[in-house]
Amino acid sequence: MKKYSLMIHGGAGTIHAPERYEASLRDIVETGARRLETGASALDVVTECIMRLEDNPLYNAGRGSVLNADGLVSCDASIMDGRNLDAGAAAGLRGVRNPVLLARAIMEKSNHVFLIGEGAERFARDNGVDFENSDYFLTAERVEQFENVRAARSTALDHSRANEVKLGTVGAVARDQSGDLAAATSTGGVVNQRPGRVGDSPIIGAGTFADNSSCAISCTGVGEDFIRTSLARTAALFIEYRGMHAQDAANEAILFLVDKVQGYGGLIIIDRNGECARAHSTPGMITATAADGEITLRPC
Ligand code: ASP
Repeated sequence: MKKYSLMIHGGAGTIHAPERYEASLRDIVETGARRLETGASALDVVTECIMRLEDNPLYNAGRGSVLNADGLVSCDASIMDGRNLDAGAAAGLRGVRNPVLLARAIMEKSNHVFLIGEGAERFARDNGVDFENSDYFLTAERVEQFENVRAARSTALDHSRANEVKLGTVGAVARDQSGDLAAATSTGGVVNQRPGRVGDSPIIGAGTFADNSSCAISCTGVGEDFIRTSLARTAALFIEYRGMHAQDAANEAILFLVDKVQGYGGLIIIDRNGECARAHSTPGMITATAADGEITLRPC
């Protein structure tokens, strides 16, 4: 049994220049591990990791979010507490600096699980969640990427080049020293997506799931594939009812995704014993893991 475990991801697909991600992955996972080492809760640590990934323009979440077909940023996020299945989610957000903080506020301060659009933003304002103006989100790299995808008249996942795609959504899963699990996921969606489109990231049981009886999971990939297969929940069921180890469950979930819908993406899992696993049907996936002080970076 591990004393504590933490895993983060920065998306899946064809990863170009993986070295670009190393410094931020290392910094975020090391800081998170120190917090777990000194007794922080899994819920706080996944929130903090996602905030830092959202603030980093390299990743498709918060500040670095991709642009939709209107050339605008629209963010989604969710969080789940494995102790009691409490969950919070928000979608179609404009201007919310850290969507994960809004998801957490919805979980902790409302009677609801999922708020969208204008109503979610009003709740954010009422609860002191920070906003930024549109310049904050519109990075030069994202504008260029959007123009390229639009010129090719396609929708594409983050960092699209020709037919190669990388999905830059971010996720974090953790098990703290009390044995509690938590998961969170945050995204800007897919490049040039139809306004109003929502993927799996804010959907509990599709892109995010946590239950102390089984595991914590965060997914990344073509959201429609993960929604249609309820992939995060499906993987958790493999652990809870089939008694699978984390890596076997991760592998089996990706086989299921591919078998059922030819799905494209990946997931990270920490199970109730603190075992960490990742699997993907994409050429690569960006992850970093910290378990009992040992750090493993896999930026491809
Ligand atoms: N799953 C996200 C979505 O479909 C995209 C991603 O993982 O990059 O919105």
